[in-house]
Amino acid sequence: MRRVIFPAAAAVLAVSLLHAPPASADPPRKAPVAEGYGGAVATVDLEASKAAIAVLKRGGNAVDAAVAAGAVLGVTEPYSAGLAGGGFMVYYDARKRKVFTIDGRETAPKAMGPTAFEGIPFEEGVTSGLSAGVPGTVANWDVALSRFGTLSLRQALQPAIEVASRGFVVDQTFHDQTAANADRFKDFTSTAKLYLPNGAPPRVGSVFRNPELAATYRELGRRGPEWLYGGQLGKEVVATVKRPPLTAGSTRNVRPGLMELSDLRDYRALLREPTKVSYKNLDVYGMAPPSSGGSTVSEALNIMEALPEVGLHEYLEASRLAYADRGQYVGDIPGVPLDELLSDGFAKERACLIGDRAMPHPAAPGSPDGSYRPCAEPGGTATPVAKEGPETTHLVVADRWGNVIAYNLTIESTGGNGIVVPGRGVLLNNELTDFTFGPAPGDPNLPGPGKRPRSSMAPTLVFEKGRPVLAVGSPGGSTIITTVLQILLNRYEWGMSLPEALAAPRATQRNTAQTQAEPGFLDKYQAELEAKGHSFASNPEIGAATALEFLSRDRVQAVAEPTRRGGGSAMVVSSRG
Ligand code: GLU
Repeated sequence: MRRVIFPAAAAVLAVSLLHAPPASADPPRKAPVAEGYGGAVATVDLEASKAAIAVLKRGGNAVDAAVAAGAVLGVTEPYSAGLAGGGFMVYYDARKRKVFTIDGRETAPKAMGPTAFEGIPFEEGVTSGLSAGVPGTVANWDVALSRFGTLSLRQALQPAIEVASRGFVVDQTFHDQTAANADRFKDFTSTAKLYLPNGAPPRVGSVFRNPELAATYRELGRRGPEWLYGGQLGKEVVATVKRPPLTAGSTRNVRPGLMELSDLRDYRALLREPTKVSYKNLDVYGMAPPSSGGSTVSEALNIMEALPEVGLHEYLEASRLAYADRGQYVGDIPGVPLDELLSDGFAKERACLIGDRAMPHPAAPGSPDGSYRPCAEPGGTATPVAKEGPETTHLVVADRWGNVIAYNLTIESTGGNGIVVPGRGVLLNNELTDFTFGPAPGDPNLPGPGKRPRSSMAPTLVFEKGRPVLAVGSPGGSTIITTVLQILLNRYEWGMSLPEALAAPRATQRNTAQTQAEPGFLDKYQAELEAKGHSFASNPEIGAATALEFLSRDRVQAVAEPTRRGGGSAMVVSSRG
């Protein structure tokens, strides 16, 4: 499985990846559930899942397959993911029996201070050079492959190069996302040329090719990450950020960015300790700051564990409290009180506030200070939850050796900052809008030089008796956390199978006055929860999760969404053991 152990196998793999056999007569179809052996994958997209399975079949491991699938998503889901974005990986290494996480989050340039976004309307930040963070995805792939993979970056990018060159069939989701962005895409020459050919979004059913992105991936594979982190591609990213290619006659006020080539040179993807809590008989691992995903999912689970019973009311209340603490304490700052936030003492203190009725809005944050009394007075004032939308993507892969990875990748808004790097076929991220715009004195998530904006991404691995049993994650901005939570509760509290747990209608309470919920949730539960004092707003779709579960030691069930975002793609290496 590893280069050092099987050099001959690695050589065969390298050659065979570069000369993939032609597609079989009976091509795989998109399905939300697959069960089998030898490795499994779930992504939002058939092409990405096929790439992961092809890598696994040829002897690559879960990390190789995740990078290959992530790079394909940069082609087929370019408004959610791409090499100029960022992400987080939570990875279980079966041989080392250890969970590793990689923080490939975008980073603020050194010139960005805490007031950089003050007074700027949010929508103006969204489509700007200012919001483009130093990209982390390429460094993330590089660290993942060199630490845990068997493929080179060049090999891992091959499937994506093929898809970008031959093209993919435009579906309704891709069309609709393009149409929703058309108003700003048309304001940049490079973006309009790529995504509005003939002045309109590509038609459903047409084949969309991105030869410039194919060439960018090819060059990246040949020259290595330094091509971006200090080399020619980096120079072009900086030039685009500083002088966005505005269409003649556009009246859009596009604020330039602060990124310099030295910011790219200094970028590092970082290995971090995962978050970990015990829940029932399980251990749950997640992503530590700068993501709030791991800490908020874990705190809410801890709070619920301290309650005598857990129903939907308790789920909403525990989420509300955990979000209050997230807003007050979690960001890319030194001294986040992670151990205390995830301690049983703190959970009991918080759980005590949950009664029969919804608590008044907003819930105040607690005091994770090591000294706990059940129902102690809350410790501060609530911070509002920033606006976030349904973007980003998540994938899971398991391989035949028992390695498992949950990988969230993003360019923040659907369509990032809307600006394609001219000639390179790739959109820039606008991840720095995840910072608090301010003024907000003391907020842990204000911008700062080299700081990473707080994320909600929550790639999560669940273990029972030291063995991985489940992997899950989702897109959806700050709703990611509750989507992951609700899937875990559906599965482990309320007895659903994993496919049922993903399909079930969702609700998200993030210390907001109203709980957002999908129509299916409102139909079933609105009346009973309103009787307890909850108030709801309808949200047509929350999240687009992917997950997998070990049904036995080597039989895996991969699960994607049956309908949200047009449905996802689950696949296994072999349906027979
Ligand atoms: N920027 C978001 C985060 O890191 C992810 C993008 C999204 O899903 O909205 O939490």
